[in-house]
Formats: sequence, C-alpha cells, structure tokens
Amino acid sequence: MKTCAIVGINWGDEGKGRVVDLLTADYDIVIRYQGGGNAGHTVINDKGKFALHLLPSGIFHEGVVNILGNGVALDPENLWKEITEVVSKGVPVTPDNLKISDRASLLLPWHRDLDALEEQRLADRKYGSTKQGIAPFYSDKYQKKTVLAGELFHPEELREHLKELMEWKNLTLTRVYGSEPYTMEMLEKWMEDWCEPIRPYVCDTGRYLKAAKAEGKSIMFEAQLGSLRDLDYGIYPYTTSSNTLAAYAPIGSGFPGATIDEVIGVVKAYSTCVGEGPFVCEWFGEEADRLREAGFEYGAKTGRPRRVGPIDLVATRYGAEMQAATEIALTKLDVLSYLDRIPVCTRYLVQGKEVDRFPFPTLLEQAKPVYEYLDGWKCDISDVRRWEDLPEQAREYVTYLERAIGRPITYVSVGPERDSIIVRSADGK
Ligand code: GDP
Repeated sequence: MKTCAIVGINWGDEGKGRVVDLLTADYDIVIRYQGGGNAGHTVINDKGKFALHLLPSGIFHEGVVNILGNGVALDPENLWKEITEVVSKGVPVTPDNLKISDRASLLLPWHRDLDALEEQRLADRKYGSTKQGIAPFYSDKYQKKTVLAGELFHPEELREHLKELMEWKNLTLTRVYGSEPYTMEMLEKWMEDWCEPIRPYVCDTGRYLKAAKAEGKSIMFEAQLGSLRDLDYGIYPYTTSSNTLAAYAPIGSGFPGATIDEVIGVVKAYSTCVGEGPFVCEWFGEEADRLREAGFEYGAKTGRPRRVGPIDLVATRYGAEMQAATEIALTKLDVLSYLDRIPVCTRYLVQGKEVDRFPFPTLLEQAKPVYEYLDGWKCDISDVRRWEDLPEQAREYVTYLERAIGRPITYVSVGPERDSIIVRSADGK
C-alpha cells in the first residue's frame, strides 16, 4: 500500500490543491484529515475553476474515493452547498466517491455565531478568524460538546443530545455575549435542510480503509493550511485550531496505524499570509501591490487581499522539518518573472543577533529579515515544461532554495493549469 501526504510548509495557500489535483490520478483514495471550510484550495481543470473548502481535491478524478476523516470540522451546511455547486458543473458526487466518517464531529450552527461574536469582542486585538466557526467548533469537540456524524442515523437520540447542547450553549450566547438564544425549531430546520442531504455519505470509513489496505489500495492525505498554522507547532495563538502536520494524518483520517511513505511539502516561490500574526518578510506599499497582483493573492474563501513578501527560508526550513517533508513542490515560480533581483530571506535579526533558526513565537514580532539577492530571469516561463528549458537564473533560484531547505525540489509549478509543471527527479535532473 502506497501512502503520501501533501501538506503546506508555510502559512497556507501554497497551492496544495493544485499539487493534489495533479497527483491524485496515481492514488485510489484521497482523505482530508483536519480543518474545515476556513480555507480554500483553488483547482483549475478541464471542468472549470473551483474553490474547494471541505471536499477533497480528488473529487474531480473518476474512480478516486474521497474521504472526510474524523479530524475535520464537518459543517453540513457548507458541505452541502459545496457538493451542490460542484455537481451543478457536471462533477458527480455520490456515496461511492465521497465518504464521510461517522466519527467526524459536526460543526453546529452556533459555532459560526460564536466565532463572529468573539472577534467582535476582541475588536482591534482580533485573531483574524475567517468566522467559519472553526475555533469554537474545536473547543467544543475537546470539551465533548458537539455531535458525531454517525448520530444522524439515530434521530431520536440526536434530538435529545442537541437539546442538551443547545441549553448549555444558550447560556454563553445570551449571558456572555448578549446574543439571541437558539430554539429546537431552528435546530430541526438545520437538521432537515443540511444534515439530511449529507446523511447518505456518512459511513464507517475506518472499516472501509481497513478493507482498502487489505486490497493494497494507495492513499493520499490532503492537508489544509500549513506548518506555521499548526495548533501545537505554529505561530500560536495565530494558528488554526487543528493540527496541519502530516504526523496527524493517520489519526485524523480514521487510520491510526498508517505510516506515510512520502510527505510532499508545498512551498510557494514567495511568501503570503492571510490574517493576523507576525509575518517577518512582509512587503508594504507599491512593492507589495505589484507582487500581490502578479500572483493574484486574494483569499479563496474570504477574498481578502493576502499579505505578501519574498520567500522566508528561516520559516520554510522550520516548516519542512515539522512536516518531515521528504520532498518539495515549489509553486508559482512564474509569478516572480517580473523582478530584476529576487530577495530571499536567509536569516532573522532578533535582539541584535542574526539567527537561522525559527524563533519562539513571542520573539517573532521583533524579528527583522536579512536578505540575500539572486538575479531575476525577466521573461515568461509559463510555457516551460522541462527543467533544462528554464532560464539559468530560474534554475539557480530553485537550486538555491533546494540547498537552503535541505530537501529535493521535485516539482516546479509555472502556472495554475494541471499541466503547467516541471517534474524533476530527486537528483535534480
Ligand atoms: P492552496 O489552499 O494551498 O491550494 O492554495 P490556493 O488555492 O489558495 O492558492 C493557490 C492559487 O495559485 C490558486 O489560485 C492556483 O490556481 C494558483 N496557482 C497554483 N500554482 C500556480 C503556479 O504555479 N502559477 C500560478 N501563476 N498560479 C498558480
């Protein structure tokens, strides 16, 4: 059985969706194992342009089985809307090609409200949440105060369970935030509108995976966001509320005994970050606008302009180490074609000392980037498909990053389309 994880090395939005879409043809099963609808993978293929939030990117490949594992924040409303949209563009989504773990916890209607209410309370100290309810959801999951997808098969018990949770949650909504309480009628409607439609997809995915393993099927684990947003190892508290690392994939997918053969870490040729938190290499003003426009850096979920800057090798090395990446897919190299000289951040200046290790989160706010500069190639490379056809300066940029990260860069992406890719072997040919 072949297993592979495709993960983000930085702050997310590295282009994982595009890499998964390219490689899924080689796999039988694609599993999303953490996170929820708070980020988006953009996939462009022969069926159109899609912003996927919860559905695994393998949904576009015939014969691939897609699984939403127990580790995800399963929002029935958003999931059903996403399924409906994808189906309307001619992509089949059936219980044969989409399976939802019966052990996935459901994101409940009040999670989104609480997310918005708390960001409002924090005002100018806000975390930059996407307000999809992810943080309240995971807090409740760990407090054991949400319901499992498998409970949809037991409506009477589910009603009782929801009533208990609602009474508890109404206390917070009304007494802490002065907001409106939920009623059982509202929850009945929520169950009917959003839970009923997804119920046919819910099953014991653990059992399915065990059988798949016995048949020697290959599995790809698809992550959301990147290393620096990992709850335990990222830039806390500006992290997400789940574990974005490959090491979590076996747990969050319903396959705790799985080992991962390959971890493909996706790195963008420059840095981007959505939301709040320290971002050492941030560019501002015209310089930033130019890069943002060249790379069209606006959030897939929120449309918010992303913060942008040159590649941060201090953060990238750390991210690759945390992911235990075995190889790197470098995306959006074509975006840098307009630059005369390309800055790369090789070290940070922290409290008067140059460091090349990623500092403790508290120190990150004071870190200043130390740059080296490489020559730009100043021509369009989006049609290049072979390594040897890239301009020398572009090859030098890639090999410089490869040496700095200490892992082979085996894919170089030069455009958003499925075939805009240069495949290299691990020895750099
Ligand atoms: P993900 O969440 O990691 O999948 O990343 P996003 O989907 O948020 O961001 C990737 C964006 O860049 C999408 O709009 C892709 O279509 C686009 N993209 C991916 N790879 C390339 C590339 O090599 N060049 C260009 N120009 N765009 C790319």
